Amino acid sequence: GSMAADVTTTATCGYCSTGCGLRLHVRAGEAVGLTPETSYPVNLGMACPKGWEALRVLDSPERATTPLLRGADGKMHPVEWDQALRTFVTEIRGVQDRHGIDSVAFLSTGQIPSEEMAFLGALTRFGMGIKHGDGNTRQCMATAVSAYKESFGFDAPPYTYDDFEQSDCLVFIGANPCVAHPIMWERVLRNPNDPKIIVIDPRRTETATAATEHLQIRPKNDLALLYAITNVLIERDYVDHDFVAALTEGFDTLREHVAAYDVDTVARAAGISAASIIRTAEAIGTGRAVSLWWTMGVNQSYEGTRTAQAIINIALLTGNIGRPGTGANSITGQCNAMGSRLWSNTSNLLGHHRFEDENDRRKVAQALGMDEACIPSEGSWKYDRIIEGIRRGEIKGLWVIATNPAHSWIHQSDARELFDKLEFMVVQDMYHTTETAQHAHLVLPSAGWGEKEGTFINSERRYGLIKKVRRAPGQALADFHIFRAIAHYWGVADQFAEWTDPEAVFRILQRLSRDQPCDITGIDGYRHLDACGGIQWPWTQQDAAKSSSDTNGGAPGKPPQERRLFADGRFYRPNSRALFVVDQVQPMPERTDPVYPILLLTGRGSVSQWHTQTRTRQSPVLRSLYPVEPYIEINPVDADELEIVHGEKVNVLSRRDEITVTANVTATVRRGQAFMPMHYEATNRLTLAHFDPHSGQPSYKNCAVRIIAN
Ligand code: SF4
Repeated sequence: GSMAADVTTTATCGYCSTGCGLRLHVRAGEAVGLTPETSYPVNLGMACPKGWEALRVLDSPERATTPLLRGADGKMHPVEWDQALRTFVTEIRGVQDRHGIDSVAFLSTGQIPSEEMAFLGALTRFGMGIKHGDGNTRQCMATAVSAYKESFGFDAPPYTYDDFEQSDCLVFIGANPCVAHPIMWERVLRNPNDPKIIVIDPRRTETATAATEHLQIRPKNDLALLYAITNVLIERDYVDHDFVAALTEGFDTLREHVAAYDVDTVARAAGISAASIIRTAEAIGTGRAVSLWWTMGVNQSYEGTRTAQAIINIALLTGNIGRPGTGANSITGQCNAMGSRLWSNTSNLLGHHRFEDENDRRKVAQALGMDEACIPSEGSWKYDRIIEGIRRGEIKGLWVIATNPAHSWIHQSDARELFDKLEFMVVQDMYHTTETAQHAHLVLPSAGWGEKEGTFINSERRYGLIKKVRRAPGQALADFHIFRAIAHYWGVADQFAEWTDPEAVFRILQRLSRDQPCDITGIDGYRHLDACGGIQWPWTQQDAAKSSSDTNGGAPGKPPQERRLFADGRFYRPNSRALFVVDQVQPMPERTDPVYPILLLTGRGSVSQWHTQTRTRQSPVLRSLYPVEPYIEINPVDADELEIVHGEKVNVLSRRDEITVTANVTATVRRGQAFMPMHYEATNRLTLAHFDPHSGQPSYKNCAVRIIAN
């Protein structure tokens, strides 16, 4: 037919961290269709509905196609790029002049490629004197980062997706891969070992329904439960003593600490049976290859870092790390959350170097060919501190790139009021209609996935390529080119002379990675990534030399498709040993009481929804796959008592706000609990701004509410 493609090419999906390969069918330079890539090592020919619909959402009438500037009439008006960029520089500089250099901050994302992220981080912090900036990865992955860094010495998720298929026991903690990571879940279904699947989750999720054992704990009993499981493992001597002696430190502290978590007490508090805790410990203790997986149920908690480390402790204690089918494995959320962790240049200097370390600063300055003096000696404020800075009047200018905090930030109504206090706010996004863009003085129109190139890093540390297969609409530009233009208008183009295009920046990132655990000096450019179906870090020059002489007579070699960390038994701490970390269990920051008797959980609602729906609601197919109107899941017994009927409207009140949503009466939640998907704008009107002290991650999953029939 006339729409037949003349070429196909493969790119990594731009939604979640699975990083599926999508085959794009291109005609006359424009993608006309896509199908999942069958030869890509990640997804084995599959994709979820979001991936299938990835091109559709680019065609929306809500796309920003010109820069928009708020006029004296309070309305947004289209302007040319030249005027937009002049205004950007005048206004941002004006704020810095009036209120001090540190009065401007930025908020970025895990949705843009590593090259763009590094450019933004370098431009702001080394070029524009902007000290404070953070990413929306603070909302999803920060906890895993701080846990891994302290326990392993580096932010290093150890696994490879093949581990889903090689375990004989898989434990999911606060994770619902059926819905959140469906292609990873397909791997579990392919596991030939008839594995035990244990799910620890207060909600009866789709994954819990498919599990061998579901520990449906009362919310936030996870840390105590993990300590009780550890206690049983030690008491019954399911300890890998050789591993513990050779490769870890802190075991005695661990043993003494968990002795206080006796099974009966923890079981009673958590609302589960003591027998189920013992069965779980036995399954972990007797398993040949045990893998433990966590996502937001753990990360988005006021004690998330310690909970993640309690999971890591179990893997270390039982020697379940560095072998096929094992690991203490954080599954990331966004397509490039892992890129943000390495390359955003906010809390960590590029490539997980340290701002505080003079040698690191010198090394990075040399790799960049920049003056060492332009590199600050401390990291940025975290996200919550930036928001607090707006409240206190310390931050007066804000630049928001590819994220939607007016919907996603915890206790969102507060954030919205704060955005209105800003003297100048820039929103750079594909769509001019996001909740956050409503507060902007200036909107800069961005190209999206499919309209630009760069690399994403998926959950198993695999660099994958995205490609330009469509022209961006109107005057929209790749974020990369917006950053280049800003560098020019700001007057620092010379400093970024080498940053000409994404692949040039990829080479800079390679230099920066040298001798770090995330070393990728062995990758031979984008073409090599393309030929290999992506490449997992680390891939060093030595690895490359070895593989090319082994297999290809000198050509760039293909790394083995599945590579996990710590197979050599060396962790990244100074003495190469992993550390057991323990802490006291903390009380929930907001408890239920007679006025607000129900605890609200939040999470992903549907496989076809993505975060704040900015993109997914642009696809009629995806919209038809989930309820457009917000809903709340309520236990049938609670509904009965409250005289609430399934399908009718209810009012939900927290100490912060009140919303009206549809009641979904279902036994997915236990009595005294309710659940709302995060994808609806209303959800974060209710949540309580509270944070993990180590990671700064918001605790989205516990606020007290009252539900009343409308
Ligand atoms: Fe794969 Fe995730 Fe994209 Fe779905 S959203 S196709 S699971 S990468």
